[in-house]
Amino acid sequence: MHRITVIGGGFAGLTAAITAAEAGAEVTVYEAHHTLGGRARTAEGPYRTNEGPHALYSAGPHWTWLKQRDLIGALAPIPPLEAARLRLRHKGALRRTPPFAMLKLLRRSCQQAPADADFMTWATGQAGAEGARAAAHYSAVALFHHDPGSLSAAFVQERLRRAMKLPTEANCPRGGWANVIDRMAGRAWNLGVRMETLAQVDAVPADRGPVIVATSLDAARRLLKDASLTWTSGRTALVDLALRSRRGDAFAVSDLDAPGWIERFTARDRTLAPAGEQLLQGQIPIAPGETGAHGVARAEQLLDLAFEGWRERVTWRRASVSNGRTGAVDLPGTSWRDRPRIDRGDGVYLVGDQVAAPGVLSEVSFNSAMEAVALALRIRERLDLKRA
Ligand SMILES: Cc1cc2nc3c(=O)[nH]c(=O)nc-3n(C[C@H](O)[C@H](O)[C@H](O)COP(=O)(O)OP(=O)(O)OC[C@H]3O[C@@H](n4cnc5c(N)ncnc54)[C@H](O)[C@@H]3O)c2cc1C
Repeated sequence: MHRITVIGGGFAGLTAAITAAEAGAEVTVYEAHHTLGGRARTAEGPYRTNEGPHALYSAGPHWTWLKQRDLIGALAPIPPLEAARLRLRHKGALRRTPPFAMLKLLRRSCQQAPADADFMTWATGQAGAEGARAAAHYSAVALFHHDPGSLSAAFVQERLRRAMKLPTEANCPRGGWANVIDRMAGRAWNLGVRMETLAQVDAVPADRGPVIVATSLDAARRLLKDASLTWTSGRTALVDLALRSRRGDAFAVSDLDAPGWIERFTARDRTLAPAGEQLLQGQIPIAPGETGAHGVARAEQLLDLAFEGWRERVTWRRASVSNGRTGAVDLPGTSWRDRPRIDRGDGVYLVGDQVAAPGVLSEVSFNSAMEAVALALRIRERLDLKRA
């Protein structure tokens, strides 16, 4: 029997632990925090906020895997009436439909965007500058970067296509992602995985089998003492708000004039806030020179436009900056293949959402975890068959 050590008990670490245990390995997970889940934790208390991920994309590779194991639990679908309340800010005003030029970028006939050009240049050639700018800003909901137009065209195009299907493709587990994490932890436990919390690992253990490092890339750089472990990511102000309910509030507002998204999460899941209150989160990407306050100010402009009388209705609020925590973004001339590789040699494997694996956001964590287990246990064919 193989012995596998997993460092980090977030979504990637739990995926790796379950996959390895299902293949018959003896697995131990070490998690520094007192609870599992990492960035997929849901806050305790009356306001059940998520730092992300809020959305579980059903076209993603993790969806089938989680479903097959009954690890998703109940979903919180958007009621049709609420879906019709998605608004877009364009040229300072709210509208219901995207500008026509932006839709040109979603036509089937639209070419595959190149990885070596920036999105703004490529998309302007396809749909004109106005359509390109609106599309770039809309795609920020899935990439959390202050200037999506400056990123690789292929990278942004993939996220734009996924994000345009948001109302049908992006699912929210009822009660937040904590429920998925709890179910994954239960599955791991039943498979005999040993899970130690409050167990920060400062160096790769000596006498051991394969080690899967499933921390953030920053933590992995320190742990593996490898300065080359870096990749670009986003910086986003997160503005959490609870408001007294009012009929007719928007379900979500996407800013097409600048990157930004505000969603009323209780529109689909009433369990996230006390009765009579609505829970909203604004995700406003900010540039390197900007502070969290700039993000908050932009969120407030969007709130003024779409949530009438919101200032008088606030019952709770909080703001933070999520720096380098929203997964990899690829600059022109690079793709996921150029990110830090999974196989680090000497039986050490690196997984997470900033490593060399395809997918959007947590899908990169999932795909890299599967790949690491396949490499560590040399069972790629069996895993590929199971996934198929
Ligand atoms: C604002 C925001 C919005 C997001 N929205 C979405 C979305 O809509 N959809 C989506 O799919 N994804 C989304 N994401 C991304 C998603 O949250 C991450 O991709 C995913 O949770 C990463 O999981 P992970 O296990 O790779 O890393 P992490 O969740 O960071 O887990 C790493 C774990 O390792 C532990 N650790 C670190 N160092 C050590 C050590 N030395 N020893 C032991 N343990 C250690 C940490 O405590 C942590 O629990 C969002 C992220 C953010 C921040």
